[in-house]
Amino acid sequence: MWSDTQELLRDVTGELDCATSVYNVLKEPRRVLVVQVPVRRSNGVTEYFTGYRAQHNNACGPYKGGIRFHPGVTIDEVKALSVAMTIKCRVVNIPFGGAKGGVVVDPSQLNEHEVEQLSRGYVDVLGDNLGPDKDIPAPDVFTNSRIMAWMFDEFSRRSGRNHFSFITGKPAHMGGSRGREEATGFGVSVVTLRALQRRGIDPNGARVAIQGFGNVGRNAAEALTRSGCRIVAVSDVAGGLYNPDGLPLGDLLAWEDKSKGRSVADAPFGRRVGALDVLFVPAEVVIPAALEDQITGDNAKSVQAPVVIEAANGPTTRDGHARLLADGRTIVPDVLANAGGVTVSYFEWVQDLGSYFWDLDEVRARLSVFMERGFDDVVAEAGKSPDLRRAAYRVAVRRLSEAMLDRGWI
Ligand code: NAD
Repeated sequence: MWSDTQELLRDVTGELDCATSVYNVLKEPRRVLVVQVPVRRSNGVTEYFTGYRAQHNNACGPYKGGIRFHPGVTIDEVKALSVAMTIKCRVVNIPFGGAKGGVVVDPSQLNEHEVEQLSRGYVDVLGDNLGPDKDIPAPDVFTNSRIMAWMFDEFSRRSGRNHFSFITGKPAHMGGSRGREEATGFGVSVVTLRALQRRGIDPNGARVAIQGFGNVGRNAAEALTRSGCRIVAVSDVAGGLYNPDGLPLGDLLAWEDKSKGRSVADAPFGRRVGALDVLFVPAEVVIPAALEDQITGDNAKSVQAPVVIEAANGPTTRDGHARLLADGRTIVPDVLANAGGVTVSYFEWVQDLGSYFWDLDEVRARLSVFMERGFDDVVAEAGKSPDLRRAAYRVAVRRLSEAMLDRGWI
């Protein structure tokens, strides 16, 4: 992932006037912090967990990016995701730079008190490197609003006053934004409708298949259903469910609520298929919303849908992307498709700074504006080229290099 990111940056910066300088700034994060976070376990032993924070580029605003607690976190993954955040913020034009954080830990092995220590300790050990006008964290894999509340409290305690704008993804009663939970999925639905329109496909009744039925997949399904689309397949880690006539989404969600812990594949509303197979059913749109590296050079030929929306980060390999393009598919890249989350994080930061909070309709309306404008900017940049990923990177890198030139960085 890290070498792919660097290669794409090299390609795209190569087209600019001051190519070498821009590439030299962007090829590595400006700062990568490696920390050891202490946790006193319930057996009395103090363990240290390795954590990272990569701060990629802050030419256009404070660093912004999530923190993940996961055993698979690596320094290269954190670096690559910090670059993606920089690109994402520039594509939708919000005044943040890219960052990402992570701790190498399996949080399911910690009790609640230990997770709280880890969360507070991460903020404490990073100290003045974080802050509402420096670097603003958010939730990511295996971190949530509860953890954001602890981190907010720790930062506020250190500085002696409440800093609601220090972190986003907080609970709604503590300066969180309405619509933050659904934001990424809602944003996915906005660009999906735009992409269908561009292909001349009527969204009414358009068939959509979604891999991953978590926060992003589910919220995208709900928003697309409200817009008239038909969800024909969904999957989670344990399997998929397919119904060519459309799944009854309300019934499926109610079934899930009642059947805690069971896979959607067990629901009685369609035919069971493999977790990956949902990407290959007949449909107008497929949305990989689970993991990276799902559509590859080997399986891309099986994708039937004309539109692929990358809701997950990095769901398509380089070879898979090339094959989809060659087959005439429209691929809305992750740096645009899933930018709804960071956009509503930006709204949360703005609301916290002004201590004035918007209702859900207002958040959705503003989010639609940012996502549609981002989509239109990328399409305009692409011109006749079908490669929207490259166009998104070009839009972002050009905006960034203008800011860096003005600031005298290059
Ligand atoms: P989540 O944990 O809520 O849901 C993930 C879903 O994917 C679950 O249903 C899980 O069972 C399923 N899944 C896991 N492995 C699978 C597999 N092999 N096949 C099919 N399904 C599988 O996560 P999420 O928040 O919905 O995030 C999904 C993706 O979107 C991730 O790549 C994440 O980095 C990206 N993303 C999320 C946000 C956000 O705001 N949540 C923002 C930007 C990007």
